[in-house]
Amino acid sequence: MKRKINARMVLVAVLGIVTTMVLLTAVFYEMFKRQMVDDLRIYALLLQREIDQDQLLQSDEDILKEKVRVTLLNAQGEVLYDNQADSMDMENHSQRPEVQEAMETGEGQAVRRSATLDKSTFYYAVKLENGRILRVAVEAESIYSILGRAMPNLVWICGVLVLLSLLLAHYLTRSLVEPIEKLAEHLDDGMEITHYEELEPFIRTIQKQHQDIMENAKLRQEFTANVTHELKTPLTSISGYAELIETGMASGEDIVRFSRGIHQNAQRLLTLINDIIRLSELDDSQEELATERLNLYELAATCVEMLSVSAEKHQVRLQMDGSDSYVLGDRMMLEELLYNLCDNAIRYNNEKGQVQVQVQQKGDQVILMVRDTGIGIPKEHQDRIFERFYRVDKSRSKSTGGTGLGLAIVKHIIARHHAELRMESQPGEGTAIWVTFAAAQ
Ligand code: ADP
Repeated sequence: MKRKINARMVLVAVLGIVTTMVLLTAVFYEMFKRQMVDDLRIYALLLQREIDQDQLLQSDEDILKEKVRVTLLNAQGEVLYDNQADSMDMENHSQRPEVQEAMETGEGQAVRRSATLDKSTFYYAVKLENGRILRVAVEAESIYSILGRAMPNLVWICGVLVLLSLLLAHYLTRSLVEPIEKLAEHLDDGMEITHYEELEPFIRTIQKQHQDIMENAKLRQEFTANVTHELKTPLTSISGYAELIETGMASGEDIVRFSRGIHQNAQRLLTLINDIIRLSELDDSQEELATERLNLYELAATCVEMLSVSAEKHQVRLQMDGSDSYVLGDRMMLEELLYNLCDNAIRYNNEKGQVQVQVQQKGDQVILMVRDTGIGIPKEHQDRIFERFYRVDKSRSKSTGGTGLGLAIVKHIIARHHAELRMESQPGEGTAIWVTFAAAQ
């Protein structure tokens, strides 16, 4: 990129320099020509006056002889006198443009290329009082010869200018590319790179994206490490129990106990794998949900019904209230959300505790509330329990069949439904979670 910018800058500079040189030469030549004609005109007019008054000075004639060609023609264009050639040999001049013009208007001028390419002749003709035509002429270099003579100097100047533009292009390219190079170097540390105002939004976006990618990579790595660890524990137990049975060291009663252990751990593995698959499914699909109109109250009532056995087992009183309330959503996801919230409210409850599930429409919102009188969540953990595998009390979670993924799945489902979550919890008193959906018509 650097090389390309550099090359283009130099190309533009060289083109600019050469064009300027050529145009300047043309302009100067034009000025030189005009000056030449002006001078010739003055000569011609002076001579005209001297001849008209019949007092042509000898000194003038001498000066003129050297450089200026003077020709005198009669009214018909025949040459009467020429100071540089024999007038007798010369043809009729009446057709020459400067002579014709002088015959008509009193004064005439013309420039003609000489026999040799490198010279031009400038003519100026005036009409005398007696009708004769006086013509003066000088030979001067043509534009080509001037260009040719100036060429060494032009080349030299061009060289210096090109060199200068090379240096300048190099410097400019460097300062242009520098912020981009810096950005690449400092993607990780988020350093401020403020060379160009216009680049700032671009730089910020790139930095943000890079940070997101890094964060995601870190989260994935952590998740993989956690998954491996979580899978290892039940597998180690299963392997241990199986080994004990295999060696024949276990008595009949032990065999039942160990088999139960194997069964429970295998069940745990299955739940874990299910949750992991669910999470990765939710992670993968970013497109909008294909939603349907669902009665959230009905879904919650079914869920409460389903969990009543578990509630009884934990000696928790499960209570449902509210009224029909419709939302647009994905049935399976909403069932999962309800299940996870109610299941937690039962599992993290106390004996003789209560769980209240409520679904109500308020204005254009449908609010789901799951409130328990359980162990509560200390303030410092409240933000983190939605992270994958984050548990406040690991052993309690595990002993009640938790995977540490339930609320991470809940958070995903809420985001996919553009719903909002609010939580209040007091250790020893209980927890309440509200999920607010947009009501469906
Ligand atoms: P788990 O499978 O361990 O229940 P979750 O993701 O559902 O995982 O919850 C994460 C953690 O949040 C739990 O381990 C628990 O410590 C805490 N938690 C969740 N719901 C409640 C609740 N209703 N009362 C108290 N603690 C809760």
